[in-house]
Amino acid sequence: MTEQITHAFVLKKIVYKEADYIISFYSSDFGKISCIARSAKKSSKRFGGRLEPFLNLKIKIKPGIRHIKYLEDCSIIKSYADIMNDLDKYKWGSFILEYIENLSEAEEQNRDLYELLQSSIEYICEKNDIINMIPRFQYKALRCVGLTPELTACFSCGRDVTDEGYLSIRQGGIACIECGKKSGAKVEGYKFIKKFDKNDKQTIMKNIALLTRFTKFHTGKEFKSERFVMEN
Ligand SMILES: [Zn+2]
Repeated sequence: MTEQITHAFVLKKIVYKEADYIISFYSSDFGKISCIARSAKKSSKRFGGRLEPFLNLKIKIKPGIRHIKYLEDCSIIKSYADIMNDLDKYKWGSFILEYIENLSEAEEQNRDLYELLQSSIEYICEKNDIINMIPRFQYKALRCVGLTPELTACFSCGRDVTDEGYLSIRQGGIACIECGKKSGAKVEGYKFIKKFDKNDKQTIMKNIALLTRFTKFHTGKEFKSERFVMEN
């Protein structure tokens, strides 16, 4: 039985039987993995307080049952736990973890997605104006898994879309203003994109909601944190 060591973040933790946890990690070498942390719930000594979100961990794992591995050991490389002390940071940090959980496939390495996760958690921990980076994070995460909406050219007439257009969830792309108006109610969206960071807060929130709907449509997964983050 070979042990393997990798770097990872906790995405999700659920109680398993009485004493254990099953942890969903996003790791640098194996992508998303599920691990049983035996006796972690019963004995706080075994893993200390280290099986928590917003900690960059070094984990030692062993093959387990089917796709579930055993967590043997873990240590903290870097803590971003300050996120837990600020409701806004905690909300958006949790949203990011759920985004990665929903977008990623089990045991498929994706170094770009791991690096995006790490840099986004770091950003949320260190900066104050977090909301600006969320649509950009969503867009980059979609790009990492090959689900990027096409935002350069109009999917209907092929013309370049420079500043604004209408994002169509079903078409997976953007329509220019003219085509958007012509096709009427079928095209969802509004002024979107490109100036990700320069939008006002209301537009940013709309963009987040739209990209979340886009992601739900293309992954078929629900976002539990969505309602929580949208209450602002
Ligand atoms: Zn067009």
